[in-house]
Amino acid sequence: FNGVIAIDGPSGSGKSSVARRLATELGAACLDTGAMYRTATLAVLRSGVHLGDKQTVIKVVETAKVEFGTTPADRYARLDGENVDADIRGDEVTANVSAVSSIPEVRQYLITSQRDIIKAAENGIVVEGRDIGEVVAPDADLKVYLTADPAERARRRSTQNGANLAATAADIKRRDTADAKTTRPHDAAPGAVVLDTTHLDLDQVITALHELITR
Ligand code: C5P
Repeated sequence: FNGVIAIDGPSGSGKSSVARRLATELGAACLDTGAMYRTATLAVLRSGVHLGDKQTVIKVVETAKVEFGTTPADRYARLDGENVDADIRGDEVTANVSAVSSIPEVRQYLITSQRDIIKAAENGIVVEGRDIGEVVAPDADLKVYLTADPAERARRRSTQNGANLAATAADIKRRDTADAKTTRPHDAAPGAVVLDTTHLDLDQVITALHELITR
């Protein structure tokens, strides 16, 4: 396999688990673009810059020293050489990531890096995010839009990170609304296959995707 698979969908739709498992089975790389927006946000928060100071925020993002591991068994995000996997999933980053990712120059900068990573992948790549099928890789070999009922998405997220269910549901709702201004978390990209995972487990989703790949 050496193609590009785009997996888009809102928070808690199962994108990350699906992307990692599919990439492992295909022997491909995988890229979590949400982790890139989160790491950019962490860089901004650590710099102490006010989020309203857009020009400086852009500069911080463009000069941050970040690295992303794209091997499914060893995915990591580093900022200034430090592994920040835990920090980028924390409340502070989650509360601020939509604001940082709404800045067009930030998106343009990260989209360019994402395209470079996709181009460099020699054995194919599974890319997950919100705007992959529409903006980052519109020529992807397969585009999938994963979704699930909001209650189910909140349940998965809170099981994943041990957070309170009601708080998680509220956060997902807030982020869906905020993100809808810059990406389309509620819409599939043109040409994308829509997969509602509310009543599907990981194995079932993976089986469905393999069928789409070999079709
Ligand atoms: O997928 P995840 O919840 O980690 O994404 C974190 C945030 O990054 C989203 O809420 C959204 O603001 C932003 N994002 C984006 N475009 C992407 C991926 C993530 O704007 N392709």
